[in-house]
Amino acid sequence: MNCSPSEVNALAIKEIEAKTILRKHKKIDSWFLSRYGMNLYRGCIHNCVYCDGRAEGYYVDGEFGSDVAVKINALEVLRRELDPKRKQTPFKPGYVMVGGGVGDSYQPVEEKYELTRKTLSLLSEKKLPVHILTKSTLVKRDVDILEKINETSKAIVSFSFSSSDEKINRIFEPGVPSPRKRLDTISFFKDKGIACGMFLLPVIPFITDTNAVMDKTLQDAQDIGVDFIIFGGMTLKEGKQKEYFLNILKRHYPKLMSEYQMIYRGSKWGEAIHEYYDQLHLTFHSLMKQYKIPTRIPPELFKEMLSENDLVVVILEHLDYLLKLEGKKSPFGYAAYSLSQIQEPLSTILHKVDTIKGVGKTTEKIIREILATGSSTFYEHLLIR
Ligand code: SF4
Repeated sequence: MNCSPSEVNALAIKEIEAKTILRKHKKIDSWFLSRYGMNLYRGCIHNCVYCDGRAEGYYVDGEFGSDVAVKINALEVLRRELDPKRKQTPFKPGYVMVGGGVGDSYQPVEEKYELTRKTLSLLSEKKLPVHILTKSTLVKRDVDILEKINETSKAIVSFSFSSSDEKINRIFEPGVPSPRKRLDTISFFKDKGIACGMFLLPVIPFITDTNAVMDKTLQDAQDIGVDFIIFGGMTLKEGKQKEYFLNILKRHYPKLMSEYQMIYRGSKWGEAIHEYYDQLHLTFHSLMKQYKIPTRIPPELFKEMLSENDLVVVILEHLDYLLKLEGKKSPFGYAAYSLSQIQEPLSTILHKVDTIKGVGKTTEKIIREILATGSSTFYEHLLIR
């Protein structure tokens, strides 16, 4: 839905006062490399059919897809939150994640309110790195600020896709610029020297998860030179999200209804059965072998930025993902969790790092290498193989 400013006025927009803007994570988020995230809108006019913002558990008011709450005081609240005099604990390094959650930061209302633009200017003033995740080409409007952020701290602009297929996009992402336009916008930012990622998330079961559709999407991503591709399956939570999705599915793909009933059997968080995800990851992994594109944000985009503890946690979590993607067991996820609870810098407790839960000889060796070089050769090898 590409709304004109007058159409934006006609939508059900509610201006609200937010108490907080920055969402602080308990530990570094190794998908986005962020310690903090922010959403300036609740609800999303993009109206993707699979969006879990529609699920009751997110408490988004009104009719999802046409009603949006605008955090009208976002700039003022963020300024207060970033004021070093008011902060009890120092700001932790990492990208500030702009987007995700229950509303795209560049959905059409942003044309009128410019909250993302204003808050980005503030983040730029504070020299904070930024990672944007959007489906909208409107992000091009802010290229001036993003180039500045990229020079002083670092910026990543990521786009999410369920595939690069135009016909499927029109059914499942009715309010979003076409995949071609999103791919062209990635090229635009790459030409400006800004790193870009593809979030192939969610792939839609039996529709965009086929070998042919995924292969074409990965090929398109490679052609424009994305820096990484992060991949994930779809969840369907019981209630509004599942009902809405299945109604559209029935209209366009009636023969798939029974397959969906089989793989989505009412789990609490809406996951499909694990056999489906296992197969999906194997398909993705075998396709990615041809493309040699990292399946996590690569270390050159974060190793100079994070604290030493966060760097170790991120690399171990990435290793855990990469090994599991290959169908192997991994000790690194558990070790990463234990290490994320440690307050002292790891370099000061290296002599007793093997006493931390989950840290065995191999993990210790990798930790030592990361602290000495900023990365791990084993990890870098796995990342692009
Ligand atoms: S753009 Fe994102 S937040 Fe908006 S409807 Fe689509 S999936 Fe949901």
